Amino acid sequence: MNKFYPISQPTITELEIKYVNDAITSGWVSSLGYYIEEFEKEFAKFCGVKYAVLTNNGTTGLHLALEAIGIKKDDEVIIPDLTFIATANAVAYIGAKPVMVDIDPENLCINPSKIEAAITEKTKAIIPVHLYGHPANMDEINTIAKKYNLFVIEDAAEAHGAKYKNKVVGGLSDCGVFSFYGNKIITTGEGGALTTNNFDLYEKAKYLRDHAMSKTKRYWHTEVGYNYRMTNLQAALGLAQLKRINDIITNRINVFNWYKKYLITNENIRLNQISTWAESVHWLVCLEIDSFDFEIRESFMKALKNKGVDSRPYFYPVSSMPMYDKYNENQITYKKSIIGLNLPTYYDLTENDVNEICKIINVELKNL
Ligand SMILES: *Cc1c(COP(=O)(O)O)cnc(C)c1O
Repeated sequence: MNKFYPISQPTITELEIKYVNDAITSGWVSSLGYYIEEFEKEFAKFCGVKYAVLTNNGTTGLHLALEAIGIKKDDEVIIPDLTFIATANAVAYIGAKPVMVDIDPENLCINPSKIEAAITEKTKAIIPVHLYGHPANMDEINTIAKKYNLFVIEDAAEAHGAKYKNKVVGGLSDCGVFSFYGNKIITTGEGGALTTNNFDLYEKAKYLRDHAMSKTKRYWHTEVGYNYRMTNLQAALGLAQLKRINDIITNRINVFNWYKKYLITNENIRLNQISTWAESVHWLVCLEIDSFDFEIRESFMKALKNKGVDSRPYFYPVSSMPMYDKYNENQITYKKSIIGLNLPTYYDLTENDVNEICKIINVELKNL
């Protein structure tokens, strides 16, 4: 029987076990404790920002960011049409409207040249997503945001450590939001973080995360806040992961390069492109096959799975979901969404593993 290669798996070493053990033994099992403070401090440093606010997941981190910058009901927020649904849902939680913009065919992130046409009187913010580990084109996005006086929140849930023009994501705009879900670059089980250089935004996010409790009068609240806190146990796991993150990212880049080496590609069967100004952390390796339609892709993925290689389709366009507005003119998003799939990408894959995976995929590609 062949080995089974999942699409993703976390990397847990003795260090993670040691820190989590230490946290649970200390008795600080809830949202106060050494690991919370340390992980917050070290993650901010890693992202090159002054402040980080840990949250219980990435979705609540996005919601907190939108609340903290003051997005209100009926405001409009621009997001890419190709992303995980959480980006849109966080906007909807506020009662604001996500406005979906088409993507750049090269890097799959929001296409800056399509943003201006989507701006209205009601537009208040842009959320670029660093999709599949590749940074969005931040300079162009920030220039538009400045011109129209909009906030920018980076959805960096899939891109810890990715670089835009040599600068780490999460500190390239008003704020960044990360996820530490089990399949992300580093994990805390469930978890998230908001990163910023803006002290007022940091204070507001911390305050809203803790039920908007008055700083001077305990258990006094003048507005509706949330409990979006991370636990010390999760932060212990996160701190151990963060100590290893450079090694984790290096191996993800190796994995991508091994796919490039062993997969038989041509102009119609491509691995993801990397923009000249970008350093991707390859959350998931992307394979695009121009001849795919929905059914052919399904049977292709099934054939791979039968041979021990897991894969998953690209996200569906947000604008194709029943609860959001339709923007069928987002042609690149709709095309890419059907022809793309993600391949196993995780720390523990060796060159030999990727070679074996590629042998299986190459056979199926020939059968197309
Ligand atoms: C994972 C993810 C999120 C949400 O993070 P959770 O921790 O799962 O809530 C948000 N945006 C994107 C692009 C993601 O991939």
